[in-house]
Amino acid sequence: MIKKVIVIGGGAAGIMAAGRAAELGADVTLLEKMKSLGIKISITGKGRCNLTSGEDMDKFIEAFGPNGKFLINVFAKFFSHDLINFFESIGIKTILERGQRIFPLSGSAKDVVRAMVTYLNKEGVKIITGTTVNKILAQDNKVIGVDTDKGVFYGDAAILATGGASYPETGSTGDGYAMAKKLGHTIIPIRPALVPLEVKEAYVKELQGLALNNVLASVYLNGDKVAEAFGEMLFTHFGLSGPIILTLSKTVVDSLAHGKVEISIDIKPAVSREKLDARFLREIKEHGNKNIDNLLKNLLPQSMIPVIIKLAGISPDKKVHQLTAQERAELVSILKDTKFTITRSRPMQEAIVTAGGISIKEIDPKTMESKIVKGLYICGEIIDVDAKTGGYNLQAAFSTGWAAGTMATK
Ligand SMILES: Cc1cc2nc3c(=O)[nH]c(=O)nc-3n(C[C@H](O)[C@H](O)[C@H](O)COP(=O)(O)OP(=O)(O)OC[C@H]3O[C@@H](n4cnc5c(N)ncnc54)[C@H](O)[C@@H]3O)c2cc1C
Repeated sequence: MIKKVIVIGGGAAGIMAAGRAAELGADVTLLEKMKSLGIKISITGKGRCNLTSGEDMDKFIEAFGPNGKFLINVFAKFFSHDLINFFESIGIKTILERGQRIFPLSGSAKDVVRAMVTYLNKEGVKIITGTTVNKILAQDNKVIGVDTDKGVFYGDAAILATGGASYPETGSTGDGYAMAKKLGHTIIPIRPALVPLEVKEAYVKELQGLALNNVLASVYLNGDKVAEAFGEMLFTHFGLSGPIILTLSKTVVDSLAHGKVEISIDIKPAVSREKLDARFLREIKEHGNKNIDNLLKNLLPQSMIPVIIKLAGISPDKKVHQLTAQERAELVSILKDTKFTITRSRPMQEAIVTAGGISIKEIDPKTMESKIVKGLYICGEIIDVDAKTGGYNLQAAFSTGWAAGTMATK
């Protein structure tokens, strides 16, 4: 008998699940609340779609933190090379870039969506857009269909792929959490992750737009270091953003519930305090008559220099040789350890991913089937797994989608 599979949500996970189930012979209906599929995919990677990563399995799992082990089984069956081959088969060539990030060669996320929709059509998936699923229907703990704003759809299996709750304008409004909860699933509280951070220090506005490379950012909770990351960051009008800040943001968001959170930026992590001081002393000796900003010229981006001088309480009219020992020490301190007090993260709407979601304890990691309701498969960001940036989150959505699509036909 041909299995009737209903997929709820046409994002990365849902599209993959629907295509895969149809490829294996199921009669598949994909229900999407927006007017078109894959709206979030089309804005990923700044419109270029960082599809996956070239990192090996260990690094991949590590990128998801403690819950990463949940993905070992599905990655063993469908990993980055399988995804690359899949995209190649539907006409999307890929390219490996800096930091092991893999993108479509065309550099267009929209091409990815177009190719995936063509794939669904070729496999005979019935795509129904503009239709919101409100409820998963179950009888005797077994899925029998779904209720939507356009009526009931009956099926042998349902694949829940409604995504997280961030960037709601893409359709990911978190509907699936309530649907799963109604059926008895535990929802680990959802929080914004990969999200910019707001700081108390008003002077951050003067640095807005400035990106710093090769800096070390450390997170302190009540004075104790709890995390650090090395790489690139960005100042904004409200605070801090950029890759390493996004990476640290989940720890920050979770720490904010427990006390005072600060981020210390070491702008020159490769140079010790002693070496910096020796460098300043050398400059004072060799270029004492120059203006104070010359002292920092080779150390900092131009736009940062007046802000740092002001922060150190040094008069901008001073000559290099007029710098006092205390001012010198203050400068070293600022370069090695500028502390920002985090007031809050930006809201969920601005988070790249949602942390929390359906508990991994209630999903079979081999099949993606719910351990609570038979015939319900769960995939993508709605699950309580999330990773740092770099293509990991999409790979998780594609891999769990692939597994759900495969198993829903069995
Ligand atoms: C700005 C931005 C950039 C990103 N860049 C990257 C990147 O480069 N690389 C990477 O790996 N990850 C990236 N991500 C994360 C990645 O996009 C997500 O993790 C991934 O899209 C999750 O896939 P999903 O299928 O689970 O959910 P989604 O892609 O969010 O899809 C869920 C779908 O379900 C639909 N839906 C919701 N509720 C209902 C309902 N009740 N009925 C019917 N349909 C419903 C939604 O409309 C949506 O289409 C980025 C995220 C953002 C916001």
